[in-house]
Amino acid sequence: MLNSVINVVIAGLGGQGVIKASDVLADAAFRAGFDVKKSEIHGMSQRGGSVSSDVRFGKGVLSPMVPVGEADFLVALDVTQVEPNRHQLREGGVVASPMREVVRLHASSGTTGKPIVVAYTQDDINVWSSVMMRSFAACGLHAGDIIQNAYGYGLFTGGLGAHYGAEALGATVIPISGGNTDRQIMVMKDFGVTAICCTPSYFIHLIERATEMGVEMKKLPLRAGVFGAEPWTEGMRKHIEANSSVKAFDIYGLSEIIGPGVGIECRHQAGLHIFEDHFLVEIVDPETDNPMPDGSEGELVLTTLSKNAMPIIRYRTHDITAIVPEPCTCGRTIRRIRRIGRRSDDMFIIRGVNVFPSQIETALLAVEGTLPHYQIVLTRAKGLDNMEVRVEVTPEVFSDKISSLEALQKKLSQAIERVINIRADVRLVEPRTIPRSEGKAKRVSDQRKM
Ligand SMILES: [Zn+2]
Repeated sequence: MLNSVINVVIAGLGGQGVIKASDVLADAAFRAGFDVKKSEIHGMSQRGGSVSSDVRFGKGVLSPMVPVGEADFLVALDVTQVEPNRHQLREGGVVASPMREVVRLHASSGTTGKPIVVAYTQDDINVWSSVMMRSFAACGLHAGDIIQNAYGYGLFTGGLGAHYGAEALGATVIPISGGNTDRQIMVMKDFGVTAICCTPSYFIHLIERATEMGVEMKKLPLRAGVFGAEPWTEGMRKHIEANSSVKAFDIYGLSEIIGPGVGIECRHQAGLHIFEDHFLVEIVDPETDNPMPDGSEGELVLTTLSKNAMPIIRYRTHDITAIVPEPCTCGRTIRRIRRIGRRSDDMFIIRGVNVFPSQIETALLAVEGTLPHYQIVLTRAKGLDNMEVRVEVTPEVFSDKISSLEALQKKLSQAIERVINIRADVRLVEPRTIPRSEGKAKRVSDQRKM
């Protein structure tokens, strides 16, 4: 998950705290399986002078020194050490102070490239558990439910975030984490699981595998799916709800703000309620940065109202949505945002046109015979961009005559062209041929940059 290096500079007065903090951090990173390099303490280590230490972890860390201006995270053990060390931070790097109040560190999964380290005080963890608990309650879950938590435990915020929320709810939580699909299905069946948390694409994979194992998903007591960590469409929801017994809920969150639990759908599945007592929502025009009125589509910007370790002001999420100001029939007075199908950084440009994977997904799933497994492959030949969309079709379709396959191919190509005004080569592939992910699905393979 963590491919690049995370750079942390720890600064304080006197050597002991800094040495201790860098040891703890280095040890935790080492235990988590990362390569770790720690620098010498430099500065005046005696008589309370400024001291700082560098800890670097990730894959293939070579040098122990964080280059100036490249720290992802400045941990100041004394508030006076923030300003003298700020130059160490890269643009967008994060200051946390003081470290002794921080009880946990996570890292974002790095959808935009470089992972971001996030810190929590005990109060932050309590807020997080509370919003996750309310999220589960919005999905109709309560004490007595058995929640299988298939989000990854570890640096990723999904696992522990959902875990603490489920416990706060009084539900029984099964901390199975991601992966080991056959075991997931056995546990679901044997433990009488009533709710599952994972990415929607992984749940679709679970449905397929269960069928192969002879487990009838529709007969399980499973009734709610809390799905997030990747954009997904109404087409995916229909597929999930038609092929299992779950009502599929969309949950929203991001590590930089708190993790999962920033917002959730209620039983009406008509937009996501944002927990406005903790998170301030704004929509801005991504071009001009100007705030936009309720109802208009733009980039979601979030401000934390109660975070201590890492308060965030007007964080640009890259998620495209709109505020739904009308009250919801469920009775909640907190406002909703429209489901997020697009992220501004998901977008790719082909022949000068902006395209989002969710637009392709919507077009594909509107046509009968397709499965929600697809991949978009972008190539360039003689200076011309080409887009191939590979999509799995049902076994019934695949055993059909060539002529009907060709007809379906044409239909899909037209459906895509209607949405994005660009012709795509559609390739129908057999079920189970597009690689499955245990976390976020990778939809676009851009081979033009090579
Ligand atoms: Zn509602």
